[in-house]
Amino acid sequence: MEIKEYKIFAPACEASSQEVNYNLTIDEDLTELLPYINREIESARFNPKASFLKFMHEGHKVVLDHSTVSIAKFADEDSAMKFAGEIMDMLSDIKARKDSIEPDNTAFEPPSVIEVLKLLPRKAPCNECGYPACMAFAAALRQEEAEPRDCKVLVGQEDGEEKLAALENLLGM
Ligand code: SF4
Repeated sequence: MEIKEYKIFAPACEASSQEVNYNLTIDEDLTELLPYINREIESARFNPKASFLKFMHEGHKVVLDHSTVSIAKFADEDSAMKFAGEIMDMLSDIKARKDSIEPDNTAFEPPSVIEVLKLLPRKAPCNECGYPACMAFAAALRQEEAEPRDCKVLVGQEDGEEKLAALENLLGM
């Protein structure tokens, strides 16, 4: 399994960050391997209908979609390519061991709006996220139409990073 080419596809949304994301095009379609990856990687969030899977590795989001591997938030190209090499090794290893792994076709169920809401500051209506209330923002997060860091109240809190990490984990980001 090898990388054929890579492109920067979008800057990470944090205004204070210089981090960027990469799309890697690889030399094979990962679709058939996804149930095996879903079994092997604990943080995997699998969508069998759409044939894509995402997971977190060393604090970076990885999305597998057919022949594309997206990796997020890197300060420079060297660290991104080093990480990409690790991911390719990981996927190649799972592929090599495929016959001894029981495939898992379980789809990731997103958390309820209430579960998401419990992790928000609930100081609304402050509207700093662009939504009329925390409930509406929670619904948008669940639909992947917003990012946790859009809640400026949470970002500004002393334990904000900890809470953001918990929120991202709940949402499978
Ligand atoms: S910015 Fe945060 S606290 Fe304010 S309404 Fe949005 S989600 Fe709620």
